[in-house]
Amino acid sequence: MSPAEQARPLQIPATLDAKFVQLIGRYPIKRSALIPMMMYAQDYYGFVGDDVLAEIARRLDLNMTQVTETLAYYSMLRRKPMGKYHIQVCTNVSCMLRGGNETLAHLRKRLSIGHKEITPSGTFSLEEVECMGACTGAPCVQVNYDYFEQLTPILVDELLEQLQTGMKTKPVACTTGSIHERHELEVPVISRRFGIENSRKIDVYRQHDGYKALEKAVREMTPEAIIDEVKKSNLRGRGGAGFPTGMKWSFVPKDSPKPKYILCNADESEPGTCKDRPLMEHDPHQLIEGITIAGRAIGSKQGYIYIRGEYRYVLDIVDAALAEAYAAGYLGKNILGSGFDFDLYTHTGAGAYECGEESALMESLEGKRGYPRIKPPFPAVVGLYGGPTVINNVESLSAVPSIILRGGEWYAGLGTPKNGGTRMLCISGHVNHPGIYEVPLGLNMKRAIEELGGGVRDGKKLKAVIPGGSSCPLLKADEIDIAMDYDSVAKAGSMLGSGGMVVIDEDTCMVDMARRIMHFYAHESCGWCIPCREGTAWLRKMLDRFHDGGGTSEDIPLIGELAQNMLGKTFCPLGDAAAMPTISIVKKWKNEFEDHLKGKCAYRPANDLLVLA
Ligand code: SF4
Repeated sequence: MSPAEQARPLQIPATLDAKFVQLIGRYPIKRSALIPMMMYAQDYYGFVGDDVLAEIARRLDLNMTQVTETLAYYSMLRRKPMGKYHIQVCTNVSCMLRGGNETLAHLRKRLSIGHKEITPSGTFSLEEVECMGACTGAPCVQVNYDYFEQLTPILVDELLEQLQTGMKTKPVACTTGSIHERHELEVPVISRRFGIENSRKIDVYRQHDGYKALEKAVREMTPEAIIDEVKKSNLRGRGGAGFPTGMKWSFVPKDSPKPKYILCNADESEPGTCKDRPLMEHDPHQLIEGITIAGRAIGSKQGYIYIRGEYRYVLDIVDAALAEAYAAGYLGKNILGSGFDFDLYTHTGAGAYECGEESALMESLEGKRGYPRIKPPFPAVVGLYGGPTVINNVESLSAVPSIILRGGEWYAGLGTPKNGGTRMLCISGHVNHPGIYEVPLGLNMKRAIEELGGGVRDGKKLKAVIPGGSSCPLLKADEIDIAMDYDSVAKAGSMLGSGGMVVIDEDTCMVDMARRIMHFYAHESCGWCIPCREGTAWLRKMLDRFHDGGGTSEDIPLIGELAQNMLGKTFCPLGDAAAMPTISIVKKWKNEFEDHLKGKCAYRPANDLLVLA
């Protein structure tokens, strides 16, 4: 595009123009609107072309290099159109264990196209993608933004037929496994409104204690008292790190002259984890209330909910709830006549696991590539736009209204010492009843699998468990008779992580499991630091070689050493996340690597379908 063409404003349709204006108004720095503007432009045009990119750059006072280099980082943004129905197939661990590779193979055959290809008619395009946050509904695909879960080849055929003939397709209305009969092991606190009709509407929320905690927080409590209550609750961050939430809030300097921010991390992307999606989907006001109370506690007047790009329908639900909360006086100026002002907005991501890391999330929210920042300084001191910032996960913030209303001690008493409350547990993989269950911290892991998950399906034996998302070291079947709290799982050599428990049966090839996990982390490495960029790439190559029957006996210790050399040597936790499961698999299932050297794999050809891009 010539400079003259670039300078000429593009005629943007009225609806998109209104969205652009609204987005730019959400941020103190215009560039923050860049990624959402590109996402909404892509929704309208089907891709982000030069002309609209130039128009976005013009409106944000950026140049073409700045916008294109940012665009290139995010996997959901594309420079070329795809089919009318863009079918994305997840083959990450939970989907792989329940037929994701077979779903992909079936679609490739039916459509006669491969990864990122389009059918000659332009009706369909296909893409193999990483985890989409539908692990308990595996195997799943997304068609444009609609989720279709628990697929079989017959259901895939029906779906294609319906799309082709223009019939109304039926995407899943909610995360599979989030609405179910309550099990006696569950203690519903933050999920207690799941299943109530219209639970996401403000009137229904108010009929079930909604916004009473905010009233209490702004009318009866000082910011210090709120923080004390959260400290008493022993609530620890549910995003994976398990850092005490109240302590995190207390790190924010009271006397900072800069604006303070609350960020809700809704970039849920850890394979195996899909609990933030129903929390926002069924109870968005609970989250809004929790964030607003957090804002009051740290003296913030503004917050953002960073929602992963794939969760567009969830973002629309949260936007509608925000509008209701503003209209009812729970957000905006002088909330409930208390003199407290607080604004809250959604912000869409665009496909990058790395943006779930808190400093990368802030970079992304500032309209840049999601590269992590070097710490210190920590976000509580220097965060978004240089101001003190608290970043909490959806689940952590959703627990805040109950803590304020019923007291920190009550919440702490639901769990074990130092591990307060309940947590959302996503059980996926080879179980009879995959689902999302709210359980007290400290529930026995074996009981959770047997009683909540209904045991291993088809009467098979249990082989391994990923306790809390794919970055956790794997546990063997004889290591899971433990309490599920942060300390007990750490003692067993793994982590509670983000609550994404993946159950693996005796027929699973652990070499392929290691390979699939490594493909994910190699794909998601931002490439900034060498141990992660090179380490994940080398490990992926070596595991591919084993898969193809080309490994050597020297490779087995080398895989472990390579992974070990990544631990603690990277700028962000992704390097550790890639290394930890790998080390555990090579150590605990070394015999399977040795079998591969002898040309034997007891589990093929079922696992031989892995066709990673
Ligand atoms: Fe990027 Fe990986 Fe380094 Fe994290 S560990 S900064 S993802 S290269």
